Amino acid sequence: NPITTDMQTLMSEVNKFATDKKIEIESLKVREEYRREFIGNVAHELKTPLFTVQGYISTLIDGEIEDEKIIEKYLKRAENGVERLIEIVADLDMITKLESSELKLDVTRFDIVEAFKDVFDMFELKAEEKDIALMFDKENYRKIFVKADKEKISRAIVNLVENSIKYGKPKGTTEVSFVHLTDNKLMVRVTDDGLGIDKKHINRIFERFYRIESSRSREVGGSGLGLSIVKHIIEAHDEHIYLESKLGSGSEFSFTIQKSAMS
Ligand code: ADP
Repeated sequence: NPITTDMQTLMSEVNKFATDKKIEIESLKVREEYRREFIGNVAHELKTPLFTVQGYISTLIDGEIEDEKIIEKYLKRAENGVERLIEIVADLDMITKLESSELKLDVTRFDIVEAFKDVFDMFELKAEEKDIALMFDKENYRKIFVKADKEKISRAIVNLVENSIKYGKPKGTTEVSFVHLTDNKLMVRVTDDGLGIDKKHINRIFERFYRIESSRSREVGGSGLGLSIVKHIIEAHDEHIYLESKLGSGSEFSFTIQKSAMS
């Protein structure tokens, strides 16, 4: 009977429409939840440094402190708080760009050994403070040319090296090494002998705002966005990032990158 067939077709279309709508609503709900969580995390991250700055400034305005040295110390602490805020806002800005389609890679040919040397120079003081040695492994790397977005890869390197110092043990070592996987693929490794990361955190460590035991991380500052930025940058290049770590013995972050034919 043609009428029954038409009815059946119509009903199946209606059902399909309802299922599609349900899926759409579910995915909107997930996105909304994600957005809410994100805003909550941002607010939480901003609160600590804001209260710090407010605390020191209010104390100074009260005018009860006369000792110049203490005044200077409080001003310095307020300044540190402001710097922390600027860092968080810059990270947020970066992550928003990375997650939107705004991200365009500016791929050029550059020497990745040199890029690491620049980052080592940048962190010379911080590393000295903890007596951490920033070095390449035994190999004598001259130049290794890669094809990638230099600025973004440098940013990823900065985050990895900075973490290796932040979570490194005093008198420790941060070692960079390279493995030529194929003619056009390089593996870059940043290894430290610091705190290490427990197995249960490894899968989540690249998530935005994910930090291990707030107390341990709070002490050293940071937004919990660093590794998420690194992952986005590497994946935007269609490459991979890996982590091997053992609590108490250290971590090894590695990523792949395209070699330039002429290297
Ligand atoms: P942040 O350093 O701002 O907290 P990240 O995204 O860079 O954020 O790192 C997330 C967490 O991963 C850190 O809070 C820290 O607990 C852990 N972590 C990152 N790098 C290392 C490392 N090299 N050794 C040990 N723990 C690390």
